Amino acid sequence: MATEIQKTVRGFVAQELKGRHEYLDSLAEAPLPLYEKFRETGLANWWIPKENGGLGLTLSDSVDIVNELAYGDAGVAFTLFISVLGTSIVSLYGSEELKDAYLTPMAANGSYCATLGSERNAGSELGRIETVATRSGSELVLNGEKFFSTNSGFADFLVVVAASAEDPADHLAVLVPRDTPGLHITKRWDVIGLRASATYEVAFDNCRVPASYRLEGNGLRLLEIGLNASRILIATTALGIARRIRDHCMDYAKRKPLKGATLLDSPVFAAKLGQMEMQIDVMKSQCRAAARDYDDIMAAPDPGAVFARQGTLKSALTAKMFCGQTGWDVASTGSEMFGGLGFTNELPIGKLLRDIRYVSIVEGGDDVLRELVFSRYVIPVPRRS
Ligand SMILES: Cc1cc2nc3c(=O)[nH]c(=O)nc-3n(C[C@H](O)[C@H](O)[C@H](O)COP(=O)(O)OP(=O)(O)OC[C@H]3O[C@@H](n4cnc5c(N)ncnc54)[C@H](O)[C@@H]3O)c2cc1C
Repeated sequence: MATEIQKTVRGFVAQELKGRHEYLDSLAEAPLPLYEKFRETGLANWWIPKENGGLGLTLSDSVDIVNELAYGDAGVAFTLFISVLGTSIVSLYGSEELKDAYLTPMAANGSYCATLGSERNAGSELGRIETVATRSGSELVLNGEKFFSTNSGFADFLVVVAASAEDPADHLAVLVPRDTPGLHITKRWDVIGLRASATYEVAFDNCRVPASYRLEGNGLRLLEIGLNASRILIATTALGIARRIRDHCMDYAKRKPLKGATLLDSPVFAAKLGQMEMQIDVMKSQCRAAARDYDDIMAAPDPGAVFARQGTLKSALTAKMFCGQTGWDVASTGSEMFGGLGFTNELPIGKLLRDIRYVSIVEGGDDVLRELVFSRYVIPVPRRS
């Protein structure tokens, strides 16, 4: 049965997203005005802890919310949840002063943060990133370029991962307010899907912040820890899109004449939809199981210390991989279902196919995640299941 929160999100989806797939696919201004309507529901940044004025909802709640949002539009869902990557790092490893100064206003204003790891040359080998943080008295000075970062054009602050100028083996995660001089948004990417979201290239040119804006710990490890929540929610967008595709297929099959009846009466169609429902059900179970793993750690007395030991969660990696691959299979079956129309922009199916593509790419492509699962969870015998 739907919770009150799910009902609120469904209301937002019905009011603001339904029937607007062309607009949501148009790479319009960022952030879209409809995000203000989401803020008015009182749910914006729903995961920010109660101590910082947020609702403190769990990742399991987040799976339910993102599942509903992504059913309406995955780009909208991505914009609304991706701040969890940066805020969870600040929440777990930032000083009380930083949390008060940056998380509390985000909870009050429904604003955004961005996280900047990836770079053009380093690719997924984040140990080779070239953005450098240099200590200068009581400040850190950032120089370098970041290739992709979602929401940075309008975020309150950015969490930037940089190499240490003083120690080549060390990396830092640094909170940088967006209005800091020397921070330049150089480009908005023309993406093929999630076009209601906005992803940017960013440059740092002698960008100075107080040294106390460094978050505690190795920056690469902190990024890995932050990615647990966002990878599970990226997996969840595949679930929402797959449910939408299923419902489109059902609507179309009722109308499509076939052999004196409709496509809905065909056993071939029944087999495809039965398979799709199985895929959707397992995707949902996987997202929920991964979220429970995350919530169990967050309920521990010192979640930061547990995550620092654990690093990337197996279930977060496998949820993203499984939902990306399975969702792509659902989208492929779905697009074939509409015949030639499935290869046009007449119906939403083309957009849904493009949207779901990101799940197996963003926050680590499957080649990278397979290697990570192998090195972290297959080689160490005690970590095998
Ligand atoms: C819409 C969008 C939003 C994004 N938002 C953000 C954001 O907010 N913050 C951020 O930091 N980044 C963001 N990114 C970047 C994204 O996370 C990366 O693009 C993604 O992780 C893939 O990394 P890459 O682009 O460096 O490609 P690479 O990982 O370098 O991949 C390129 C090729 O090399 C192969 N490859 C790489 N490593 C291996 C390996 N070990 N073994 C075998 N083959 C390998 C890949 O399979 C692929 O074929 C975003 C990207 C997009 C498209």
